[in-house]
Amino acid sequence: MSHVMNTYARLPVAFTHGQGVWLWDAQGKRYLDALGGIAVNTLGHAHPRLVKTLSTQAGRLIHTSNIYQITEQENLADKLAAISGMDKIFFCNSGCEANEAAIKIARLYAKGKGVENPAIVVMEKAFHGRTLATLSATGSRKVQAGFEPLVSGFVRVPYDDLEAVRQVAQHNRNVVAVLVEPIQGEGGINVAHLEYLRGLRALCDQYQWLLMLDEIQCGLGRTGKWFFYQHAGFHPDVVTLAKGLAGGIPIGACLAKGAAAEAFKPGSHGSTFGGSPFACAAALATLDIIEQDQLLDNATKVGDAIRAGLTTALAGIKGVIAVRGMGLMLGIELDRPCTELVGRALEAGLLINVTADKVVRLLPPLIMNQDEARQVVAILSALIRDFLLQPAPAH
Ligand SMILES: *Cc1c(COP(=O)(O)O)cnc(C)c1O
Repeated sequence: MSHVMNTYARLPVAFTHGQGVWLWDAQGKRYLDALGGIAVNTLGHAHPRLVKTLSTQAGRLIHTSNIYQITEQENLADKLAAISGMDKIFFCNSGCEANEAAIKIARLYAKGKGVENPAIVVMEKAFHGRTLATLSATGSRKVQAGFEPLVSGFVRVPYDDLEAVRQVAQHNRNVVAVLVEPIQGEGGINVAHLEYLRGLRALCDQYQWLLMLDEIQCGLGRTGKWFFYQHAGFHPDVVTLAKGLAGGIPIGACLAKGAAAEAFKPGSHGSTFGGSPFACAAALATLDIIEQDQLLDNATKVGDAIRAGLTTALAGIKGVIAVRGMGLMLGIELDRPCTELVGRALEAGLLINVTADKVVRLLPPLIMNQDEARQVVAILSALIRDFLLQPAPAH
């Protein structure tokens, strides 16, 4: 009997080592990793330059404390500010923590404006994490069920629907911020229209709300730009990062601009582990490698190839609703629940995942090459075709 607490329905495989986009299990079977640890393994597995940085840094300094200056943290903040156009960065260890920081910033900002009972607009099908505040912001009953009472102060509207937010603006004086994923990840790879995001920016300016983007899954090069909002051509007030930022070492970051960047003062927020020399060195190396190896470009090209390949291979097959996404954040929506495909792909040596019940999700490492992309398309399209063409199970 396992003594690990039962929080995951795990697949029957344990990997022993990896290299690039490949993983091996104890039996020596090889798997093509099209999921990247759910958007975490930006540089794939055992990237030599990242490995070298980690071992050097581990031998030099792993942790001190945020009661001291941390040079690696300063350097990482400079780098993130330069690529994002944001002013100030708070470091933590995960996505939910980054969103907690964003929510706390919004509440302090509200108090500064004299709003005593502030509310944040959040979206249907959103996913923001599993702490009490972030699961309350999440738009999934499955994530929330059993954990009531939820944290109050969230107003929910349909995703990608500007009129719905406008209605809230006209009727709710307590709103101080909007929190939104530019592409919903767990919600099923739903891509917001750029016009919607620009409309949100304009509404936030008009009402002096904070526009807070959760780019924990879609950010950091995955869609071909460092940040999704750079496709839309504006800056948010807050953007949260985690997953891929340090190539697999735990880290989270809450980036803020303007008034939002001034909300926290010494004592308002903190984290024991956040922004350690080790995690920050890992993130700096990850960002440098993304730059040196031109992985933003690669994400666009390889992502386009996978999308085009799947679109062609699945054309005309009844049951395929859509192939969508951007760069290396892709979803294939089917007309029926398809979680079963995850196990079938595993057998076929391909790592994928299914989210929102009917959406096959791909989040490959940004280092994936065209030949590996072709293999993803070939294996996955065959699996989906077989799955959809099989006779319906008898009930
Ligand atoms: C994964 C994810 C989170 C939560 O991150 P954790 O590190 O698991 O806390 C929050 N928002 C989005 C969009 C995510 O994809």
